[in-house]
Amino acid sequence: MLRTALLTASRNRTVRRFVETAPVSRDVVRRFVAGTTVDDAMAACRALAARGLNATLDHLGEDTTEVGHAEATTKAYVTALAHLGDEGLADRVEVSVKLSAVGQALDVAMARDNAAAICAAAAAAGTTVTLDMEDHTTTDSTLWVLRELRGDFPWVGAVLQAYLYRTEGDCKDLATEGSRVRLCKGAYKEPPSVAYQSALDVDRSYVRCLSVLMAGQGYPMVASHDPRIVDIAGALAVRHKRTPADHEYQMLYGIRPEEQRRLASDGETVRVYVPYGAEWYGYLMRRLAERPANVTFFLRSLMSRG
Ligand SMILES: Cc1cc2nc3c(=O)[nH]c(=O)nc-3n(C[C@H](O)[C@H](O)[C@H](O)COP(=O)(O)OP(=O)(O)OC[C@H]3O[C@@H](n4cnc5c(N)ncnc54)[C@H](O)[C@@H]3O)c2cc1C
Repeated sequence: MLRTALLTASRNRTVRRFVETAPVSRDVVRRFVAGTTVDDAMAACRALAARGLNATLDHLGEDTTEVGHAEATTKAYVTALAHLGDEGLADRVEVSVKLSAVGQALDVAMARDNAAAICAAAAAAGTTVTLDMEDHTTTDSTLWVLRELRGDFPWVGAVLQAYLYRTEGDCKDLATEGSRVRLCKGAYKEPPSVAYQSALDVDRSYVRCLSVLMAGQGYPMVASHDPRIVDIAGALAVRHKRTPADHEYQMLYGIRPEEQRRLASDGETVRVYVPYGAEWYGYLMRRLAERPANVTFFLRSLMSRG
């Protein structure tokens, strides 16, 4: 119930205005978002690198409905990539892009071209790009853009969501030589016609999908904070004789940071997803929806202000 309400609110403009202007929001945001500027993002990446952690930078924003906005987001990524190159961080930090932020809902070819400009900037800096996956109505067009981009930039990463029935098949299609695939559970509100609804079914699907990726020829990116999933990933990596050079673990900025460091100090490759920018609303609401304790934290800080 609470999850559904929060995910519905994540796309409601009135609630968005209220939350964005509430005095409490900044404190809660700071836990999950590295800051608003590119300098904040670089500082977060440097701090992670000092602890042996890689990063993927997300310039916050989604569901763009204006061409100018899509172009501004593209420019923000190109600028961030130039900073990564200049600051010698490109071997540790890549970027994650939501196609809806670069115009997917307006014109998918425009989103592809904007994403290609970001990929060209990543190539110049010496790093990579991963295409985030959004709600199921965008899956086919996101995979189409992925195929288009991989023609020139074979290292572009995909994201697949275990909660969708289709994903085991998508994993089989994408488990090819050199193919970077991030597997996550999925963060959107999806109907029973396309997605598993119970946590148990999603977890079982995750394990089936990860088994396909680990057995394949690609580079699996295990995006989960779930201790059981992390353990199973470790066992699958051993079974398929994978080393830290051919798979990695990924977690979100501010979530289970001690586990991120533990995995890295055990010699695993760990990448932290680092969001930054002013448009944090949709991202924050999905993080609150994932864990009731985060809502309690939000409400407690609201009351301490009152
Ligand atoms: C690197 C990365 C990239 C992602 N990219 C995408 C994407 O492109 N598309 C997409 O739909 N989803 C994406 N997600 C989100 C993902 O789909 C899940 O919604 C999210 O990771 C929670 O699932 P979980 O596997 O951590 O397991 P869960 O079962 O949700 O959580 C397991 C445990 O992790 C901890 N935890 C999980 N979430 C939180 C939280 N918000 N706050 C505090 N603790 C928490 C808790 O201890 C919890 O018990 C991404 C996740 C990661 C880590």
